[in-house]
Amino acid sequence: MAIDLEKVYKDAGALLEGHFLLSSGNHSQFYLQSAKVLEDPKVAEILAKELAQQIRDAGIEVDTVCSPALGGILAGYELARALDARFIFTERVDKVMTLRRGFDVKKGEKTLICEDIITTAGSALEAAEVVEEQGANVVAFAALANRGFCKRTGSDKAAKPECKLPHDMPFFALEDFDFEIYEPENCPMCKDGTTAYKPGSRGN
Ligand code: ZN
Repeated sequence: MAIDLEKVYKDAGALLEGHFLLSSGNHSQFYLQSAKVLEDPKVAEILAKELAQQIRDAGIEVDTVCSPALGGILAGYELARALDARFIFTERVDKVMTLRRGFDVKKGEKTLICEDIITTAGSALEAAEVVEEQGANVVAFAALANRGFCKRTGSDKAAKPECKLPHDMPFFALEDFDFEIYEPENCPMCKDGTTAYKPGSRGN
């Protein structure tokens, strides 16, 4: 592949090393801060074009890209531009994923769900359910990077049980970032006596 995504994240200071508390409650030594990569629109454009090419090569037609807010919006918007598609986003209201702001979906509209990073794909799947309720036809999922739980199209690595994506659904990503994730009771960094913190809470 032409793009070394790990290098792109490192160069942007977006591959953080520390002791992180993830939204799942688990701990990790690494954290991907995609916003730091996407703050350069030219980099965002290059990554989205590469992802769009994979999707076209697979013969998948896309009318609309839909991202769950907030993390997926920049990646999804650029991907929509690269695919010459429409872009919409879902957002949580009282924790429930919803489609607001006058966005609507036509019956049978071929929709791709795009995230910045897919971990277990929980939010992506919720976004898919929202547009499907309105009659959309969800044709694929995509993300800049795959955290290694779901099987991306073209990779030999099998999905882990935590992956929530349907197994028959194409999932495109530029690279696997397969970092170890620990339950707090098994976390070696906790055993070393440091405290896990939420990414963003210390200025990152
Ligand atoms: Zn820990």
